[in-house]
Amino acid sequence: MLKGKTAVITGGSRGIGRATALIFAKNGADVAVIFSGNEAAAGEVVSAMEKFGVKAKAYQCDVSDFSQAKNICAEIFKEFGKIDILVNNAGITKDGLLLAMSEADFDSVINVNVKGAFNFTRHLSRYIMKSPAGRIINISSVSGIAGNVGQANYSASKAALIGLTKTTAKELASRNVTCNAIAPGFIETDMTASLPDEILEKVKTAVPLKRMGKPEEVAALALFLASDAAAYITGEVIKADGGMYA
Ligand code: NDP
Repeated sequence: MLKGKTAVITGGSRGIGRATALIFAKNGADVAVIFSGNEAAAGEVVSAMEKFGVKAKAYQCDVSDFSQAKNICAEIFKEFGKIDILVNNAGITKDGLLLAMSEADFDSVINVNVKGAFNFTRHLSRYIMKSPAGRIINISSVSGIAGNVGQANYSASKAALIGLTKTTAKELASRNVTCNAIAPGFIETDMTASLPDEILEKVKTAVPLKRMGKPEEVAALALFLASDAAAYITGEVIKADGGMYA
């Protein structure tokens, strides 16, 4: 499905990004993953991708750092020769009620989740525009659509990603680049592993499908959006939330 394509996946070393990297590699794409600190996890996903016979490499970079991101993007292009697909997936949470939220917790979530996606879109678009079928996929969240108690910073960042998605879709459409967002619900990753049991139980009762999603179930949607089959879909936000906000 992605044979001959090159993809860059931020936060590709764990969770949803890792599952996306693996399904892209399984479908023939060469993949560069960006990680922030967990070198062991990044090394593991690179080895797992190489087993599919594709080129794979991990790059350490804080996505929120504009100039670091610029240098890494240039390095990736030098190494891979072309870039067709970008998945802006790196994200963090720093939950807390609005009235008690610190400035630092607000800023860091906005910087990683929104500025990180801007940085990579800004620095890679020049290469993606040269692809006959460029694709940019932003991982938003249902929190960005509906809001969520304790996530003023996170839901603001994920709503901002939807605005970024729609603008990118409009600005790059003439270059045959599509840009879409995926809004997952509760997915079983390290990010949700630390939620208290009673919250996880409440989540399950609020989800019509009665369970959390798996990273692979989000990655499958990213694969479709990255493929030629999705050529006429752009500026969309697609939920993968078990029906929670249907
Ligand atoms: P994880 O916490 O499992 O993984 C996060 C990934 O992002 C890791 O690879 C991490 O790298 C990387 N990362 C974090 N900060 C930075 C940074 N500053 N620079 C570069 N890389 C960074 O997250 P999930 O897989 O759960 O989430 C992935 C995306 O999906 C996020 O954007 C999240 O908001 C979104 N999402 C998740 C949901 C869920 O229920 N899990 C629901 C809705 C949306 P390292 O390992 O080196 O730290």
